[in-house]
Amino acid sequence: MNKLLPTSTAGSLPKPAWIAEPEKLWSPWKLEGDELAEGKQDALRLTLAEQQRAGIDIVSDGEQTRQHFVTTFIEHLDGVDFEKRETVRIRNRYDASVPTVVGAVSRERPVFVEDAKFLRSLTDGPIKWALPGPMTMIDTLYDAHYQSREKLAWEFAKILNQEARELEAAGVDIIQFDEPAFNVFFDEVNDWGIATLERAIEGLKCETAVHICYGYGIKANTDWKKTLGSEWRQYEETFPKLQASNIDLVSLECHNSHVPMELIELIRGKKVMVGAIDVATITIETPEEVAATLRKALQFVDADKLYPCTNCGMTPLARSVARGKLQALSAGAAIVRREISA
Ligand SMILES: [Zn+2]
Repeated sequence: MNKLLPTSTAGSLPKPAWIAEPEKLWSPWKLEGDELAEGKQDALRLTLAEQQRAGIDIVSDGEQTRQHFVTTFIEHLDGVDFEKRETVRIRNRYDASVPTVVGAVSRERPVFVEDAKFLRSLTDGPIKWALPGPMTMIDTLYDAHYQSREKLAWEFAKILNQEARELEAAGVDIIQFDEPAFNVFFDEVNDWGIATLERAIEGLKCETAVHICYGYGIKANTDWKKTLGSEWRQYEETFPKLQASNIDLVSLECHNSHVPMELIELIRGKKVMVGAIDVATITIETPEEVAATLRKALQFVDADKLYPCTNCGMTPLARSVARGKLQALSAGAAIVRREISA
């Protein structure tokens, strides 16, 4: 990016009411068949227009074509039985009914590549595409086949790499892997989590990002956050190894969170997508609040490596709220951009 402080979002954006129930996470589709296919493309056009209108520099599909950031990808793989469900504890936090790995996992055909090509056809600007990370994928499944979290993560990393290479060929500029699990399983992150992530980006020439957050603003997450104390130092456990990894960008939760900003120093040299928008509140930040968060981050990130962003996805928010937050992000970044160039 030539522009200083290019803005983007962490991932999902609200879906229009005609395709899925609004303000609801993982809401089922309202359409089916050809109507759904067309509806997804229309939703993608709309979310792109809203990002552009708000002045977002690095745009995405707002995850309009997927129901869930992990399972929609897994649904397209062989070796996973969606009829055979088991209840597991996700990220040590909440129970969910999840599909079962019943055999060797593989990707028979591309998952998001056609959607990415469609987004690419609609804009000449930089685009970012999100995929689930290997560790977060294995944490959203019941494994009756490999019976090893690590083994399954390496298999998923291989599959993600196939998908990522095709997304790169489709013209995606930044491929992002969502790894909220990195904030929970520190030993595994350091033992094999970051290594499997590096396997997933092997051979890519486009930029790569990892998004590590404290989750959507749903109750299971806000309850968990209350147990984390006044200072959230989770990033401290994983940043040293991430700093030494091949990942180009790290996407973090910062605004309104209890993450001590100085932890960002531990990934010095990386580009940092600083979350300056809280996704767990419907209060729209003022541009000045966004600017204040970015200024604080600038103490620990060089200006040419600071990417203003949202803390996490915004699917569960009303569209008007999400729009307001996107505008605030742009306006806040503009304030700091002016200060830097003055
Ligand atoms: Zn997130």
